Amino acid sequence: GGQTAPQEFEENNLSEVKRVIAVLSGKGGVGKSLVTGSLAVELARAGHKVGILDADITGPSIPKMFGMSGRHAMGLGNLLLPEISDHGVKVMSSNLLLKNETDPVLWRGPVIAGAIRQFWSETSWGPLDYLLVDMPPGTADVALTVFQSLPVDGIVIVTSPQDLVSMIVAKAVNMAEKMNIPVLGIVENMAYVECPDCGKKIEVFGPSKLDAVAEQYGLEILGRLPIDPALAAACDAGAIEDELPAGLLPDALAKVAGLPE
Ligand code: ADP
Repeated sequence: GGQTAPQEFEENNLSEVKRVIAVLSGKGGVGKSLVTGSLAVELARAGHKVGILDADITGPSIPKMFGMSGRHAMGLGNLLLPEISDHGVKVMSSNLLLKNETDPVLWRGPVIAGAIRQFWSETSWGPLDYLLVDMPPGTADVALTVFQSLPVDGIVIVTSPQDLVSMIVAKAVNMAEKMNIPVLGIVENMAYVECPDCGKKIEVFGPSKLDAVAEQYGLEILGRLPIDPALAAACDAGAIEDELPAGLLPDALAKVAGLPE
């Protein structure tokens, strides 16, 4: 650590965010957004005030998951207002700022960085117990922008089974260390499939390396999710709030809910 200068994180006077949790993955497509959305739903069901800052600017998937397709964020003076889901989760995302949600985000690095800063300092979050940040995939410069623009209190690492046999977890852990942000733990997504007939768990990618990797890096295991076609369908249909199975990520929920304010 020690390579980064102390940062000033400017929150606007219409926000009062108690804790900021970043959900990080080594690469795209491993289910980082699904885990972010699930954790948000579980926190909201537990009675907390929750927001999601979608920092995956070029691959935003949170609005669709929460049934916000086609909606547009409004302005209030020079602040943006987050969209609010049916169950009260607040969301800000690049997809809520596009004219058509199928438009590609053809923004260069500095513009993306500006958008991320705007989603923190120029968005009226109101009072929130938790702001979850759906990180851009990977540990390159956009991720760095997030950690330098927001007061992140803790990081949840999401991996696929294949990531556990690569350098990806090490890179994420090292990044967190350099930024002086605690890693709360690791979630393995798509870890297995459960046979719908006999309930047998099949580890499609071979025996899980989760325990070994968690031990190697001193990480708490916060969950292990199966490949669940029904959950994928619920996300596609914008129905994660209604259809997320209860108690999907109990350890992650307990860990996050146990953080001091
Ligand atoms: P990321 O944010 O890492 O790019 P997403 O959360 O967008 O990944 O997931 C990529 C795709 O995989 C989405 O279509 C999502 O619905 C699906 N998916 C993610 N996790 C699961 C899972 N456990 N079971 C079934 N589908 C999943």
